[in-house]
Amino acid sequence: MNERGAGLRHEIGNWAGSALGRLEVLALFPLVALTASWFGFTDLAMITALGLSALLAVAVLLGRTTPRGDLVIASGGTGRAGLTALLEQVTNLEGRDTACFLVQIDDWPVLVDRWGHDSCQDLVTRTEDRLRAALRHGDVLVRLGDARFGIGLAPIRSARLEWRETIAARLVQSVGDPIPFNGTTLHLTACVGHTALIRRGTDPAAATFLAAEAALSDAVAHGPNAVRAYAPNLGRARSLQSSLSADVEDAIHDGLITAWFQPQICAGTGAILGMETLARWDHPKHGLLSTGEFLEAVSAAGHLPLLGQSLTHQALKALSLWDAAAAHIPSVSINISAPELRDGSMVNGLVQELSRYALDPARVRIEIAEDVAASAADDAIIASLIALKEAGHLIDLDGFGLGATSVPMLQRFRVDRIKIDRTFVVGVDGDAAKARSVSAIIAMAQALGISTLANGVETPNEHTALEMLGCDALQGFGIAGPMRSDKVADWARARLVKDKTIRLDDRRSGG
Ligand code: C2E
Ligand code: CA
Repeated sequence: MNERGAGLRHEIGNWAGSALGRLEVLALFPLVALTASWFGFTDLAMITALGLSALLAVAVLLGRTTPRGDLVIASGGTGRAGLTALLEQVTNLEGRDTACFLVQIDDWPVLVDRWGHDSCQDLVTRTEDRLRAALRHGDVLVRLGDARFGIGLAPIRSARLEWRETIAARLVQSVGDPIPFNGTTLHLTACVGHTALIRRGTDPAAATFLAAEAALSDAVAHGPNAVRAYAPNLGRARSLQSSLSADVEDAIHDGLITAWFQPQICAGTGAILGMETLARWDHPKHGLLSTGEFLEAVSAAGHLPLLGQSLTHQALKALSLWDAAAAHIPSVSINISAPELRDGSMVNGLVQELSRYALDPARVRIEIAEDVAASAADDAIIASLIALKEAGHLIDLDGFGLGATSVPMLQRFRVDRIKIDRTFVVGVDGDAAKARSVSAIIAMAQALGISTLANGVETPNEHTALEMLGCDALQGFGIAGPMRSDKVADWARARLVKDKTIRLDDRRSGG
């Protein structure tokens, strides 16, 4: 059944359920039936009795009857008022609870960029229909802007965490079913933040909504396709992000945000291929922060280009120092964000740094995230990528497998290597479905002449499985975690010695 059909079915069920939930409607049936039979109108008596059964059947088959004592609030609408009304009413019901869910379609600006605002309205309507079909009678669903929906559950005894998680999973699944759209099939994903009713304070409805918003921001920060429950420390995490945003500029100027480096090796020979540059913040109050913990704050403060400039300088300086120490590090990779590519000045900055340290551009790989590659309509981004490629840099596509990169896009950006996302790598040795996905990605890359690197390799078994599947390069804690630049030369030398010893042992044992 299509979504419209499911929505209609649900609405009829709701209507029947609502009718049966009203005492005066139920009381009317026996009264009319008795009066009709008293006056000899047996047909009317029969119709009335059958009508009650029919209504019951519709409610049971297509919807649900309203549990005794529950509220019935009209679902749908475009604003927050319906949701607030439900939260307020449940607050006043003793022994009753509810939960609030916020659902946000992932990558909305990218979708609008690609398909246009008007076409995307159809996606919103279809998503709304799907969400409604995944809910129960009495639950409230409202639109909160283009890509966001708010849901309040009809009163229940307890909105325990496991139960909310089950509902959140159902919502994500309903959004994720394939949608035929403009001649293609879309697989939307969504982030969900949820909370039980928060009865504290003077305005529990507002507090609940704020908690759901905090949970959703956390989900989006870990997204796409992430679900997060509200926890009180989320508020603290939020205030940490805003204090980091305020401090980031000074921290970069004061040299507190430094480049660390994580090795990338050849899967077959174990030879070092290069180092990925990863930012670390030596925070005087919060200790050593990894990029995942502060990148959002940098982005919110509009300092991604400043961070990129500083990290690029540090990475190229480190490469020239490793050369001087004869550490034999072939290349360094730097992560470049969409705002840096849009800004464009990073291309000239890179040229200057390369000539300052007399380095070959082919030794500096540019890592772009899959969502950058997906912004195919952004001319400024494409111009920067073409300029980088023409200058002789190699392009790595990060986080491959999660987004919607198409083969034409890979060719258009002349991608040299794809970095298979960690989600495909974790446990690949014991998961046949994962192994098939990785194998398909590698086969596609090989057909296009693109090399592959598996990210997040943690165990020797994952290493072996990826090597057998034909993956070219590996990176992950199983090889080495990110390290300070002054540790790299020693690490590389120790690895070389270990590698030679292993090969010598192989020869001795006839391998
Ligand atoms: P990414 O490019 O996918 O980088 C890999 C992230 O995974 C790093 O986290 C790294 O520490 C972590 N990682 C590496 N191996 C393993 C493993 O075996 N297991 C697990 N669980 N994790 C592993 P980090 O440094 O927090 O970076 C997070 C993301 O931040 C990066 O993801 C990258 O997209 C971005 N990033 C890092 N440095 C920079 C930067 O200087 N500029 C920009 N624009 N983005 C950066
Ligand atoms: Ca990266």
